[in-house]
Amino acid sequence: MQLFEKLIEYPEAERLVLERTPRAPVEETPLGDALGLVLAEDLSATVDSPPFDNSAVDGYAIRSADAEAGRVFKVVDEAPAGRPATKSVGEGETIKIFTGGVIPEGADAVVMVENTSGWGEEFELKKVPEPGNNIRDAGQDTRRGEVILRAGTGIGAPEIALAATQGYGALPVYRRPKVVVLSTGTELVEPGTRELSPGEIFDSNSFAIVAQAREAGAEARRTHAASDEAEVLRAALEDALQSADVVVTSGGVSVGEKDLVKSTLLDLGVEQVFWGVKFKPGKPLFYGARSETRFFGLPGNPVSAMVCFDLFVRPALMRMMGREDKKRPRIRVYFEEDVTNTFGRMHAMRVSLKRTEKGWRAESVGAQGSGLVSSLTKADALALIGPESEGVRAGELVEAIVLREEVVLG
Ligand code: AMP
Ligand code: MG
Repeated sequence: MQLFEKLIEYPEAERLVLERTPRAPVEETPLGDALGLVLAEDLSATVDSPPFDNSAVDGYAIRSADAEAGRVFKVVDEAPAGRPATKSVGEGETIKIFTGGVIPEGADAVVMVENTSGWGEEFELKKVPEPGNNIRDAGQDTRRGEVILRAGTGIGAPEIALAATQGYGALPVYRRPKVVVLSTGTELVEPGTRELSPGEIFDSNSFAIVAQAREAGAEARRTHAASDEAEVLRAALEDALQSADVVVTSGGVSVGEKDLVKSTLLDLGVEQVFWGVKFKPGKPLFYGARSETRFFGLPGNPVSAMVCFDLFVRPALMRMMGREDKKRPRIRVYFEEDVTNTFGRMHAMRVSLKRTEKGWRAESVGAQGSGLVSSLTKADALALIGPESEGVRAGELVEAIVLREEVVLG
């Protein structure tokens, strides 16, 4: 146990986290699992798409030179999707064709069935087509060899569709970081297993943090809480460090005599990037690195843990996946009344938001204690108050990090 040597400012901590966060390894990921990930390399078209001239409608393929209203054409073959005709179209002849069917030899237009006398062994033409009518040319979507998606592109449904048209079964993407979440604290009890004895509480942090990590797109798993006993803690931390890209712990990282997380980490060869941020809630935040693994020691108070996750761990996970663009939106908000900040550090205040004719009005969700989990269920945003000022005046604009996008979008 030790006291804080040096507290750094919030923007400095945010910068250090990102600066010391590597990209996740590139992995060929099955197309069906690539949603939300980011391409690590340019993707080129492997084929012309569509691969062949084909019909855009259900109807008849003819030679446009033969087209004359009232003329009767004789059906010699058919060309449904997936089964090209074996015959070609001669003068006065036609081949029945369906959407996606290969345009048969000899034909240069397709007449919609609606513009004929109907389906049969012959038909009468009602409306004369132009050459090329209703034909989708090979390669009109993509050309073999051209770059269709650039490295750095986020994979959404349209990108998956495009890659599939080219026959890609897997995509080279930055893989989801593997996050291991570990709560520390002798007082913690696994929810749903038994009732609490005096002095005990249920472990809520590890569940919350796993949910946050998954929401950010990571692959996260929790381990059972470790007690504050040195040996138990050491084994649990080493185990987590060996199996994760990112380890996130909660508790035991402040300056109490039982707070052994930091000293144990240093013993285990974790390099301290910083410990202690001039920030509320979350002063004892620890960030460290051991080879490619990154370590976040979040404070134990549930609100501190979740807010620190959002502000520091989430951006790191996004960076690992190449998703720097996926930031929480920031807006300017005002308060109806003066708000004080006597903490001497940046206060990320839990607020609800309301749209008014003056802009976004923020209102404290109530008591701001770091243990008040229920307060987070009411918070739409974190208003950043301070750190130098004593607070903000009524009507003055301050920056807020939006936690619930739907509130500002809808
Ligand atoms: P610590 O940072 O370990 O001193 O913990 C600060 C406060 O957060 C204490 O009241 C702890 O009991 C509480 N706490 C620590 N870990 C958890 C957890 N996993 N779930 C809920 N509360 C916790
Ligand atoms: Mg503790």
